[in-house]
Amino acid sequence: MIKAVTGTKDILPSDIPRWNYLEKTVQKIFASFNYKEIRTPIFEETALFARGIGEETDIVGKEMYTFKDRSDTSLTLKPEMTAAVVRSYVEHSLGAQQPLIKLFYMSPMFRQERPQAGRFRQFHQFGAEAIGSKSPLLDAEMIQMAYEILKSLGLKNLTVKINSLGTPETRENYKKLLKNFLEDKKDKLSEDSKRRFETNILRIFDSKVESDQKIIKDAPRLIDHLDEESKADFEVVKNQLSKSGIPFEIDPALVRGLDYYTKLTFEIDSESVGAQTALCGGGRYDLLIETLGGKPTPATGFAAGIERILLACENEKSFTIPEQSIDIYLIRIENELESFGSELAGKLRKENLSVDFDYLQRSVKAQMREANKLKARYVLFIGGDEYKGGMMNLKHMSTGEEEKISIDSIREFVAKLRS
Ligand code: AMP
Repeated sequence: MIKAVTGTKDILPSDIPRWNYLEKTVQKIFASFNYKEIRTPIFEETALFARGIGEETDIVGKEMYTFKDRSDTSLTLKPEMTAAVVRSYVEHSLGAQQPLIKLFYMSPMFRQERPQAGRFRQFHQFGAEAIGSKSPLLDAEMIQMAYEILKSLGLKNLTVKINSLGTPETRENYKKLLKNFLEDKKDKLSEDSKRRFETNILRIFDSKVESDQKIIKDAPRLIDHLDEESKADFEVVKNQLSKSGIPFEIDPALVRGLDYYTKLTFEIDSESVGAQTALCGGGRYDLLIETLGGKPTPATGFAAGIERILLACENEKSFTIPEQSIDIYLIRIENELESFGSELAGKLRKENLSVDFDYLQRSVKAQMREANKLKARYVLFIGGDEYKGGMMNLKHMSTGEEEKISIDSIREFVAKLRS
């Protein structure tokens, strides 16, 4: 038997109502902030992600699904959306149409990570990118939007963490400080961190290795060495979050080790998902648009993992989905009336009713069981003496009451159902 590939998952019909509920909530909140949806292809040229995410990241270094197509072009299944959105923004000159463009997306992503609870190889993200403004109020809006989505899904145990990475110059100066601090401790670092010491020292903060964590705990903090502009912007974000009633913590270790990330970074964690606590992450990336060939343009955004959010919702029982039901189940008493039943189902569906009918030639009893299983509001019996007299029996499933209706006056019957 062929099974789904490790780290991928079917979203079965029984899962769909929860996904739909999340997707509708997300769309509603993005619309209320005037974000417009964008959809980009599932794969892109590999160079886009190599440049747009950075060679030194785990994503590009270890996790991408990269393959050569038949024309020997290196392609990659998208591991995240920001680079793809920026590619589209530059390619279609979206900035020329609108100086500040606010976009949102929902899409599958692909990363070859070690699968575990809340971590998959095909997973889904929703997220937003606002391109064109350097206002820190927009950073605060990003956090507010992400937070409101999670709150609207009923989640409670949330922690908002923020940090500032400053400008590139600030960061270069800080890297020297960090290098000095780590110079004589370098030998005690993990192999990965030793390598990062040479290639991208800030990423040592991302290390999950305990001995690394112990060493960097006492390192100088970027947040204490910010330039004046970054400091002022960070204050604006903090004030705005307070005004909006969003509790937050400052986490100096929240570092994105990529040169085009600037100023604000944030993450929203949940206690309800086990080891992988981050539900979403984001921040400002003022240098990415020019890295990908556009004009220098400030931008900010976030991405959130749908599977992980749904897991948190399930663990907190944060929302319940109303039971799925249909309006009418047609029960055919005699098999010869199959064709009439199918035709009648079609007529009722044209009246915007959800209708189902037995195509398995099951007994009346079995059809009744099916009607109950489908939580049908009404059952319409076709056949018997009533049918010969041009009538049908309608059963109200909530009360058990039955009434006779005329086959020729379906419209009146539908009107009555609605009243
Ligand atoms: P990132 O793009 O790495 O900043 O991730 C943003 C969010 O996407 C995370 O907070 C997770 O909720 C989700 N996410 C990232 N990687 C995975 C994965 N492999 N499986 C499931 N969700 C993921």
